Amino acid sequence: MTGGCEAPRTPRPSLQVHWKCCGVYSRIYLNRDETYFAGNCPRCASPVRIRAVKGGGSKSRFWTVE
Ligand SMILES: [Zn+2]
Repeated sequence: MTGGCEAPRTPRPSLQVHWKCCGVYSRIYLNRDETYFAGNCPRCASPVRIRAVKGGGSKSRFWTVE
């Protein structure tokens, strides 16, 4: 699912997520507009959207999804 000419050496920012619903971990990625991280639980497909904070705020790269 890559554009083709997008440089692979600049990876999309990602967030490590702990899905409390299923007790699993996965990674979600920043959306195209860089406004939020979005993804789905790998097991039950429960969606999550976490607002991206630019230039400060929480630098946490790990989130727990209730
Ligand atoms: Zn789940």
